Amino acid sequence: MTNLTRREIGLGLGATVAGTSAAGTFAIAQGGGKVVIIGGGPGGATVAHQLKLGEHKLDVTLIEVSKVYTTCFFSNLYLGGFRSYASLQHNYDGLKRLGVKVVHALATDVDTSRKVVTAGKSSYSYDRLVVAPGIDIKFDSIEGYSQKVAEIMPHAYLPGAQTQLLKRQLEAMKNGGTVVMVAPNNPYRCPPGPYERACMIGHFLKTKKPKSKLVILDPKRAFSKQPVFVEAFGKYYKDIIELNLTNEIDDYAVSKIDAKTKTLTTKAGKSWKADVANVIPSQRAGAIAVKMGLTQGDWCPVNAENFTSTQVKEVYVIGDATIAAEMPKSAFSANSQAKVVAADILSALANKPKFSPNFRNTCWSMVAPDDSVKIGAGYLPKGQKLDPVAPFVSKPGEDAALRKEVFQESLAWYSGIIEDVFAKGAKKKG
Ligand SMILES: Cc1cc2nc3c(=O)[nH]c(=O)nc-3n(C[C@H](O)[C@H](O)[C@H](O)COP(=O)(O)OP(=O)(O)OC[C@H]3O[C@@H](n4cnc5c(N)ncnc54)[C@H](O)[C@@H]3O)c2cc1C
Repeated sequence: MTNLTRREIGLGLGATVAGTSAAGTFAIAQGGGKVVIIGGGPGGATVAHQLKLGEHKLDVTLIEVSKVYTTCFFSNLYLGGFRSYASLQHNYDGLKRLGVKVVHALATDVDTSRKVVTAGKSSYSYDRLVVAPGIDIKFDSIEGYSQKVAEIMPHAYLPGAQTQLLKRQLEAMKNGGTVVMVAPNNPYRCPPGPYERACMIGHFLKTKKPKSKLVILDPKRAFSKQPVFVEAFGKYYKDIIELNLTNEIDDYAVSKIDAKTKTLTTKAGKSWKADVANVIPSQRAGAIAVKMGLTQGDWCPVNAENFTSTQVKEVYVIGDATIAAEMPKSAFSANSQAKVVAADILSALANKPKFSPNFRNTCWSMVAPDDSVKIGAGYLPKGQKLDPVAPFVSKPGEDAALRKEVFQESLAWYSGIIEDVFAKGAKKKG
């Protein structure tokens, strides 16, 4: 298995923007240095941070609707009781200290011909635009599900209140209750996310409500890191987790939900009654990307070498909203793509040669105390595609010391990426 160095983990490095120092030669004086970024998650906020590191005089505006960002990554650990909710929350003060203009408003419109973004009652003109709005939930992909029903049967796949709701429901459930999880179809945010969540709910049930069960209903035939997850289900959560994968006989895609009776019915016609239901439906790119015409189907196709849109000229799109060949939708990927985009913008504005990009992803998942697994690869553009390089994945049967090391790595990654995205330790620039 390829191990990242401490430095790589600590910095959350996925790609290299460092070295693209274009300072000094900017077209700022000619009015050519305004960057607007929509979305302040690991994608958008990293671009803002990297641009300011590259050239602190650059005029960078980050438009993010929420004042506090709550990470989905590590939210499963909160469900399992390993992490506080407060530890998932981060503000934009560090980026503000670096001189990023952070606007807390919803971007509702973009005029790409005039190069103007409308957010709230104000307009923001730009020379370069980055769109990083993450995902929206496709509520109508399951009959009977809706934003209102999600208040009874949470998806907990957007950060914040939904995750807290699921946690409260698990805590309130009787010992002996049934939790039903509906897994999503590909492609979706964080491919191992539902299965890490299953382990964390499994841990919670095992330690707090041991007579209870978690039933997974999955429309897929296979999923990310399946061998190590299946091993963990058997090793730690035997008689608690029941995994139902779609096969040639049964289609376990949930097609219908009755919120009143908390009954979930699969395509094959089987029904489950839940005490707690965690319904994770299909997803699509955030609404602003759809409105801007950046999508083809549900996602935004991009040019592999610099994540510019293939649909709308001169717009960068990064993170979960994109469909980037085999690169999974993860915070690590979004952060890695952001660094390539920041480097591309810095080079373009400085009129300097561009570096060939080098993307990276690793996804860690905690399966039990001191036991984590991972999957990852590097990615290089090849034509319109991103080719995986040196992929690696945890294997069943690994010893406890290695798994503990992988868990420690994941903690270092979380601290590293948070600093990399939100610049918490940044000092005010004069
Ligand atoms: C349960 C779970 C576990 C996960 N675990 C991991 C993990 O271990 N490792 C990992 O790498 N990834 C993990 N992920 C995935 C990770 O959370 C996402 O891939 C990542 O957040 C994507 O970043 P993003 O910047 O593209 O989008 P987001 O993080 O969704 O950020 C988008 C931001 O844009 C804002 N926004 C959207 N539209 C507008 C608008 N019109 N105007 C203003 N603001 C707007 C939103 O408020 C949001 O803050 C996990 C996800 C889940 C659900």
